[in-house]
Amino acid sequence: MARYTGPVCKLCRREGAKLFLKGERCNTTKCSFETKSYAPGQHGQTSRRRLSNYGLQLREKQKIKRIYGVLENQFRRYFAKAAREKGVTGSNLMKILESRLDNVVYRIGFASSRNMARQMVLHRHFQVNGRIVDIPSYQCKSGDVIQVRDASKKLTFIHESMKRIHGDHDLPWLILDKAKMQGIFIQVPERDQMGVDVNEQLVVELFSK
Ligand code: SF4
Repeated sequence: MARYTGPVCKLCRREGAKLFLKGERCNTTKCSFETKSYAPGQHGQTSRRRLSNYGLQLREKQKIKRIYGVLENQFRRYFAKAAREKGVTGSNLMKILESRLDNVVYRIGFASSRNMARQMVLHRHFQVNGRIVDIPSYQCKSGDVIQVRDASKKLTFIHESMKRIHGDHDLPWLILDKAKMQGIFIQVPERDQMGVDVNEQLVVELFSK
């Protein structure tokens, strides 16, 4: 259940990309990456290092871990599982990450960031198929119904979250029923349905050494 608790904007600056880790703030002018788009640290503005192949692979792994809020050991377990499954290992890895309950809660729109979604799951605000699930890494399966618990439906921050959802989202693998405060995980998304700008093949190359 360990998780990263340090400053998150530094992670975007380190990876040289917006990872959208802070919810609403990421889309405003307050975004640190917009104002300081160089790497953090004393030499962040001056250092012009060219990364080796290994360095690029390592950075891509860190980027994916940070986007999904997964630490090293769990990420390695996911990779091992992805490698065992049929199909393309990199795509399998992304499918496993996208099927995490905290990611699905975020994707449906119940939370403005994956980190917030993780907290909401841990605080037992959701049911999956009628049963409370408080495990952010729970792997959603086709047909799973994810619903805000009745006891949580009146909470202000849940209402704030619902208000943020304007219209339907454009993810064909999820259905949102705003009135019932529930979403349906129709199927595990294909890689091109995720809209995540990472190169998971670099991670496959890294772990194949
Ligand atoms: Fe990254 Fe969001 Fe912070 Fe911007 S506001 S640097 S996108 S976490």
